[in-house]
Amino acid sequence: MRHYARLFTQLRQTMVQAKTWVLKHHFEGFPKDGDFELKVVELPDFKDGEVLLEAVFLSVDPYMRPYSHVRMQAGDVMIGTQVAKVTQSNNPAFPVGCHVVGRCGWRTHTVSDGSDITRVLADWPQDVSLSHALGAIGMPGLTALYGLEEVCAIKPGETLLVNAAAGAVGSVAGQIAKLKGCRVVGSAGADDKVAYLKELGFDQAFNYKTVSSLEEALKNASPEGYDCYFENVGGHFSSVAIQQMKTFGRIAVCGGISLYNVTTPQTGPYPHLTMIFKQLKMEGFLVGRWEHKNEESLKRMLTWMQEGKLKCREHVTVGFENMPAAFMGMLRGENIGKAIIKV
Ligand code: NDP
Repeated sequence: MRHYARLFTQLRQTMVQAKTWVLKHHFEGFPKDGDFELKVVELPDFKDGEVLLEAVFLSVDPYMRPYSHVRMQAGDVMIGTQVAKVTQSNNPAFPVGCHVVGRCGWRTHTVSDGSDITRVLADWPQDVSLSHALGAIGMPGLTALYGLEEVCAIKPGETLLVNAAAGAVGSVAGQIAKLKGCRVVGSAGADDKVAYLKELGFDQAFNYKTVSSLEEALKNASPEGYDCYFENVGGHFSSVAIQQMKTFGRIAVCGGISLYNVTTPQTGPYPHLTMIFKQLKMEGFLVGRWEHKNEESLKRMLTWMQEGKLKCREHVTVGFENMPAAFMGMLRGENIGKAIIKV
């Protein structure tokens, strides 16, 4: 009898198929539909210590574009994280029914040995969507928090500039700075995004695509300059913004999305003289540096969310099949808040 039960389990396991999105060939410039291929693969049997995961929400993030060149070969499954449900388990740390955040890539089903998955916070509230574990109560939220606290060491009363401010990281960064008693200026690429920033409590917000002069817009928003600058964009925006820093200003270089799809190397203007005369501090960072603080930080942000102090909008695309479109849409700026795929 046990023999048949084992056979049945094996049969069930071998029949699990996963849909995956593969990088057909490396992106050149802005990604195109033809760069992606949907493939169905059969999952291997899972062994002791392994679990079977079913994706519930998947994330599309800007880092996938630059990392595709350094972390991926043509033919690889696209990298990425997801919230998944454990549907079968040979690992007591991840019982059937629990939810995890996993670095599984763009795939509907995954066999994991547990090394690339983390359980979502214990006591995750029923009324908070698990998708936020990919956004404000996840990697982008942590990025915002660490950029402000660890890199900028922002203090009450200071003025912060944040660009891509209506996105996943920027919208959280601006709100945390407000919670810390700062003045916040945000820029975004659409009028409805600017309206959203004002709704979130940003002191000043402008559409960088429609202002006649970026320099004037930054000066008008804060005539005395900026103490801290949370940099998400790079390129031309950065060159202009650095000129508006106060003496001893701090710049957290989080991202440079305006450069991710360029095909020719960018040159100056170079910031050195401004940095010297204003004695600026500019530091690049990766969110993983403070991984040891993640649990405490996520709890802190979840509390803010539950208290209504941290608002977290999402831009949800339904259907795994639509992942490339959601990814390219996010790179084009279609999202307000975190870009999420609901399977
Ligand atoms: P967002 O949710 O902000 O989405 C990307 C946004 O970037 C778009 O909505 C668009 O908004 C803006 N954008 C796109 N192209 C340009 C352009 N050419 N110039 C200016 N803005 C542009 O993404 P995230 O919040 O997830 O990421 C924000 C930044 O943070 C990215 O640079 C990302 O790489 C970085 N990051 C860094 C991490 C780290 O550890 N260092 C971790 C996570 C993210 P708009 O309409 O306003 O132009």
